[in-house]
Amino acid sequence: MTFQDLELIEPISKALKEEGYTTPTPIQVKSIPIILDRRDLLGCAQTGTGKTAAFAIPILQILSESPLGRGERSRIRSLILTPTRELAIQIGESFEAYGRHASVRHTVIFGGVGQKPQTDALQRGVDILIATPGRLLDLINQGFIKLNQLEIFVLDEADRMLDMGFVHDVKKVIKLLPAKRQSLFFSATMPPAIVALANTILSNPAKVEV
Ligand code: AMP
Repeated sequence: MTFQDLELIEPISKALKEEGYTTPTPIQVKSIPIILDRRDLLGCAQTGTGKTAAFAIPILQILSESPLGRGERSRIRSLILTPTRELAIQIGESFEAYGRHASVRHTVIFGGVGQKPQTDALQRGVDILIATPGRLLDLINQGFIKLNQLEIFVLDEADRMLDMGFVHDVKKVIKLLPAKRQSLFFSATMPPAIVALANTILSNPAKVEV
């Protein structure tokens, strides 16, 4: 299996070549076609498996292939919720790398730093928002972020999210999302509390394990 077999658009396959990626990892082989088919996904995968590219590549492709119409107001079309600042930054770097030839904008927000550069970026308009839960809810409450037209939601490292005590924040965010959306749920482990949370978020998901 090569990236060519995954039928990626040229701006993305070009970026992957520049990254030196030749072969998709198992999670990528399994997940990318499911996500491009617009199905919900329950993925059991650790960090280091290529999980980030497994969702970033198809999200970039889906949004690139359905650009907003001229004159249409900019809006957040995809949200990636992740537990830590370090993960948020890494995910942002992945979107930067794989999306460098695509005309899809992203930004990263997290707590512990001033919010002004983040709100400035949001006001310039972004398609993809990568966020930690606390700062996301802060900026939603201040009116800087609206998620009512979201198309693709990703919950990354769900088990760590629960371990870090973010379950209520995550549930608050989910309540703000449109019912009609695509959701992708990733966790390294699948204890009952995680399965229960996944069931509240996903609709008839394809299951992928690596
Ligand atoms: P992740 O599991 O998303 O944290 O990714 C782990 C590392 O693997 C990252 O440094 C990626 O840049 C790298 N990576 C992801 N997919 C591939 C691939 N198909 N070929 C080579 N490296 C990859």
